[in-house]
Amino acid sequence: MHLYKNQHLKVYNSLTGTKEVFTPINEGHIGMYVCGPTVYSNVHLGNCRTFMSFDMIFRYLKHLDYKVRYVRNITDAGHLVDDADDGEDKIAKKARLEKIEPMEVVQRYTVDFHNILQKFNFLSPSIEPTATGHIIEQIEIIKDILDKGFAYEINGSVYFDVKKFNEQYEYGKLSGRKLEDMISNTRELTAQDEKRNPQDFALWKKAEPQHIMRWPSPWGDGFPGWHLECTAMSTKYLGETFDIHGGGMDLKFPHHECEIAQSEASYGHSPVNYWLHANMLTMNGKKMAKSTGNNILPNEIFSGENSILSKPYAPSVVRFFMMQAHYTSILDLSDDALLASEKGYHRLMDVFGLLDSLQTSKDSSIDITSWKQKCYDAMNDDFNTPILIANLFEAVKNINLIKEGKASISARDLTDLKETMNSFVFDVLGLERKSDGNMDSDKLSGVVSLLIRMREEARANKDFATSDNIRDQLAALGIQLKDGKEGTTFSVS
Ligand code: AMP
Ligand code: ZN
Repeated sequence: MHLYKNQHLKVYNSLTGTKEVFTPINEGHIGMYVCGPTVYSNVHLGNCRTFMSFDMIFRYLKHLDYKVRYVRNITDAGHLVDDADDGEDKIAKKARLEKIEPMEVVQRYTVDFHNILQKFNFLSPSIEPTATGHIIEQIEIIKDILDKGFAYEINGSVYFDVKKFNEQYEYGKLSGRKLEDMISNTRELTAQDEKRNPQDFALWKKAEPQHIMRWPSPWGDGFPGWHLECTAMSTKYLGETFDIHGGGMDLKFPHHECEIAQSEASYGHSPVNYWLHANMLTMNGKKMAKSTGNNILPNEIFSGENSILSKPYAPSVVRFFMMQAHYTSILDLSDDALLASEKGYHRLMDVFGLLDSLQTSKDSSIDITSWKQKCYDAMNDDFNTPILIANLFEAVKNINLIKEGKASISARDLTDLKETMNSFVFDVLGLERKSDGNMDSDKLSGVVSLLIRMREEARANKDFATSDNIRDQLAALGIQLKDGKEGTTFSVS
């Protein structure tokens, strides 16, 4: 029996502004699209937060036994410097400044993106398509939108006619904006503007002679508008209507609004059932952003080479810090917050050393079944990881009580407890036990726990030579045992 049948997931849908019961289009299957990075620079920690929120969501959906097709694209063309329809292509600009090919820029920063995500223990998406690999699909959509009368061609460029679209559909429904307000708040078009209205956006832009990234089209050489790639790639791999579309809150307008408009204009219906938006990572109270310089790179955090934090932090500690906030809340990065997360992370990890050495009893004094359901309830409530983590710490407290003999657990409940802790900590939150060199963490902790139990037995038999020998031999391997009132724990240096 699939786990999702017992759990009732609710998600906050930005389109309706309410928390809704999640029902996929095809039972047991989920199509999820998340806007990927524009690969013209190193991903900063803010970018990582959004992708990590969706990695956690992907992980939980998989944990519930859904078959998830997760598409996260790479934007390697069409994203212009001012995020609207003016200025240079971000990748072409970087290529010009560095005197390299645009595709060298794309390669360098795609590799960086993957390296960082791997350090953070992300799962790979099912498909990672690129904008430049889908130019033909984008041209087909433009032709369709032109045929349906919602776009116009001028001087080799094609623009989406927002006013015309709004007569039949509703432009602004995702971001809660009204076209009339947008019109009254924008400047008049100047004579050299090609657009009929300032709200219109480019589907295809004519390439000036110096523009390197160009493709032939029915309207001459050019390149696609930024919003179009996501419509083309999501439709190609997930269909005209799919379950979940995600991205950072800052993409709601205009990017996602334009995606909806393109799909409705072309297919006549809304593309997405649930729009999920992840909130921003801030630093010093301001949004982390490449453009303002208010940002920090993940590698600068891992190495400690930065002027913002007092020490290096491991990827799992940073991941734990992110997971302690709900994905729809703003999260501020600071040294104090990371220090607190580091402590919490170790407290949580220490318990895995204890779990294997717990003594079981006939009965349990702790209600594991209802605790486990509380963990699921937290995640079913729009992926509430902070509440989940509070429940995991309740288990930490109970495990320590069992160790001290102040609480009891049956063998069956202990198995359940271990499985549940492992599922949520490692599979769903994606944390790792990284302090153990090259060896697989579960195996190492299993072996050390075994030795700790043998040492306890030796001590109980007053065989202190053996117990000291185990401790010293482990220390020689760089594994320190620490005897405390909660039992023996270990650390690896
Ligand atoms: P970009 O490469 O600029 O297209 O951005 C990639 C992703 O990072 C988008 O989903 C943005 O919403 C997200 N993003 C950018 N800045 C932040 C931030 N400070 N906090 C969280 N997500 C962000
Ligand atoms: Zn997108």
